[in-house]
Amino acid sequence: MVGSWPRPDWLLRELKRKNEGEATYDEFSAKADQAVLLALKGEEEAGLDIVTDGEQRRDSFYSFVADKFSGIKLLSVSELIDYAEEKAMYERMLRTLDVPAFAIKSPVAVGEIKRRRPLAGDELLFLKGHTRRKTKIPLPGPFMLTRASWVEPLTREAYRTREELASAYVRALREEIISLRDAGASFVQLDEPTLTEVVYGASNQTTFMCAAIMSKVNPREELTFATDLINEVTKGISGIKVGVHVCRGNWSRKDDALLAGDYSPLIPYFQQMKVDQLVLEFSTDRAGSMGVFEGTPDSKEIGLGVVNPRSDQVETAGQIVARAREATKYFDPSRICLNPDCGFATFAEVPLNAAETAKRKLTSMCQAAVELRRQYT
Ligand SMILES: [Zn+2]
Repeated sequence: MVGSWPRPDWLLRELKRKNEGEATYDEFSAKADQAVLLALKGEEEAGLDIVTDGEQRRDSFYSFVADKFSGIKLLSVSELIDYAEEKAMYERMLRTLDVPAFAIKSPVAVGEIKRRRPLAGDELLFLKGHTRRKTKIPLPGPFMLTRASWVEPLTREAYRTREELASAYVRALREEIISLRDAGASFVQLDEPTLTEVVYGASNQTTFMCAAIMSKVNPREELTFATDLINEVTKGISGIKVGVHVCRGNWSRKDDALLAGDYSPLIPYFQQMKVDQLVLEFSTDRAGSMGVFEGTPDSKEIGLGVVNPRSDQVETAGQIVARAREATKYFDPSRICLNPDCGFATFAEVPLNAAETAKRKLTSMCQAAVELRRQYT
């Protein structure tokens, strides 16, 4: 799993109540327990070795930080339009990109960022209490958080520079990973989908994920900044697997609304990242050829995306085996792990698939893993 699992309708109603202030996080979370158990059941029955809680307690993979950190305010993507320098361009882009602008909320830094409570401690505790399998906790990466939550006029009240804001996230994420490790998590995944936005999004094509849309950026500087932040987060931490997840957006089923481009501009930065696994999207043509990894020595594991979370068609185990065999041309078989390209419901209100389809896709993937282990060990 990369992270999210489609939420039941009743959970979305409870989430709305929480977001409207009619229920506290703890009241909501107690109800979400049942949804986590459903997600876990689906993952275990599909045969996964490493499970997540399906992000059932989260509004999205990054906006949930507002429940746990002080200094964050959630603004809907449509509210952010007020802060864009080029409003007309921003509105046009949201339409083109098929963004549900009212449903998607972005965390904006408006005060001092502090961990009021652990970001995912409650998620891990519950998950570990209900499974014997290895557990993965996805967390928004330091670059994603900084890039998304720096909205100049609002954030400047609390932080003078983006670097200062980033340092606050680095501190918080380090504390979080250490406490997750100590509580028995097997794998922490830092989600950094906006890395592709930096590379492939021309200035008029940036995606909504970056509230910092107002500022034009130099891709090389941004990628260096992102790599440094990831390395600051992981520095000296051992005893837990840490991965970085990169994809090209996962908010729409319209493929042409999402970013496209192969990994070659990112590979030099991947090589410098001090993490154990790269969790990458590969099942869509938009991710380009795996061949770009040829001759790029790296000892990291590759989380190979082999199922598309946005399609109805269920990939067969045979197709997945063939993709993994192709990957062995570029990566040592012992370093290849299988995963979907991204979550199945990154944003709570816009699930990309039905739970039943997600389960069928994961089942195919696990069947392929059994066959591949037989062939390669
Ligand atoms: Zn993703």
